Amino acid sequence: MAQTAPRQPHTSGWQSQDSAHHLHPFTDYKALNAKGSRIITHAEGCYIWDSEGNKILDGMAGLWCVNIGYGRKELADAAYAQMQELPYYNNFFQCSTPPAVELSALLAELTPPQFKHVFFTGSGSESNDTVLRMVRYYWKLKGKPYKKIIIARDNAYHGSTVAGASLSGMKAMHAQGDLPIPGIAHIEQPYHFGVAPEMDVNEFGLRAARALERKIDELGECNVAAFIAEPIQGAGGVIVPPDSYWPEIKRICAERDILLVADEVITGFGRLGTWFGSQHYGIEPDLMAIAKGLSSGYQPIGGVLVGDKVADVLIGEGGEFFHGFTYSGHPVAAAVAATNLRILRDERIIERAAEDVSPYLQRRWRELADHPLVGEARGVGMVAALELVKSKSPREDFAPAGKVGTLCRDICVENGLVMRAVRDTMIISPPLVLSREQVDELIEKATRSLDQAATRLG
Ligand code: PLP
Repeated sequence: MAQTAPRQPHTSGWQSQDSAHHLHPFTDYKALNAKGSRIITHAEGCYIWDSEGNKILDGMAGLWCVNIGYGRKELADAAYAQMQELPYYNNFFQCSTPPAVELSALLAELTPPQFKHVFFTGSGSESNDTVLRMVRYYWKLKGKPYKKIIIARDNAYHGSTVAGASLSGMKAMHAQGDLPIPGIAHIEQPYHFGVAPEMDVNEFGLRAARALERKIDELGECNVAAFIAEPIQGAGGVIVPPDSYWPEIKRICAERDILLVADEVITGFGRLGTWFGSQHYGIEPDLMAIAKGLSSGYQPIGGVLVGDKVADVLIGEGGEFFHGFTYSGHPVAAAVAATNLRILRDERIIERAAEDVSPYLQRRWRELADHPLVGEARGVGMVAALELVKSKSPREDFAPAGKVGTLCRDICVENGLVMRAVRDTMIISPPLVLSREQVDELIEKATRSLDQAATRLG
């Protein structure tokens, strides 16, 4: 691993300008101004460095996105070459560019067989906005204009645009700005530990899945357009559904006249050990939202993969789809994404992680369940979570929720490890190129951080 020297530590200057001028996403501004932001200056492999020279193992791959790891020169070269050749042109009005064409053909090759078409966006949120518009347009073209409602789940995260935040099931987001917008309904999430730990896990999975059936009946099948879900809820706390959950959802979607949308913004491109999370769970969605791992975060780009059932109607029966973004299929982002996908494919990064590192990671991660603060350790592939509890038996959660998670997260960073806290759930989603030695480092730092958190809590 390269031990690049840090840049000059301009930390306090950057921090004061940052506080003075920069409104950060998902940030409590008062708390940030009191403390000052951590300025990340460079990265290599699975590590990031801050402006103080601290080397930190990035257990979150940025925001669940740097699947390929940091510092792949091929991606920088692809961006540089494309910027010189054609830095920008759009795909509106019957134009296209070679990188957008190549990336769409590559996606058709690498995705499940029903997907031969992609609509490009600039982010996961834009992808889900596109989903909402596309499914309503589809049903209109099918002569069923009343089919408008999209059913999503409590605690889901589908983005921060108006449609993305509305589809999301997060109450704190809804409270800021009168969301959700009309035409969106939510059902319970398959969160066994958080919702019904006393129930048999697979019975609970069936109950959570059948909430979809009950909601369709309540709203009227003739009014429901689609069900959208992440194969594993990510930002909601890495909610791994019980084994009974997805087969039952599949059954319901097959019996009912609605579309199934998989939000694969996190689970796409290898996170669960398969190229897509839908393949891990045997789901065959009609639409798939993608972003993040598509370019490993090196460029902002997302998309909606459109299955034949929908594409045939849009192409065969639709006129102009009045939807698109200036940066849909941006040539530089597309060139970088295509290079990223070729590396993932040619170096078998997803398969290698699935065969070797992720079983090791999952085995070692579950050892953390023995720690007095940990009520559950769960995960699939290269994503995992720990539930922090005050007492395991009888079960007692921390109150108010979230304080201990934040404490533990801060201690982790002091110990050179990025873990994320969602309430009192600690999360990892590291680059897929993590080595076994780095798994050991991650577990050692996590254990030390849990011990220190327990000591500070007294
Ligand atoms: N969907 C899921 C499942 C996500 O996890 C995210 C972001 O974390 C989004 C959508 C939104 O993506 P973006 O932040 O690129 O808009």
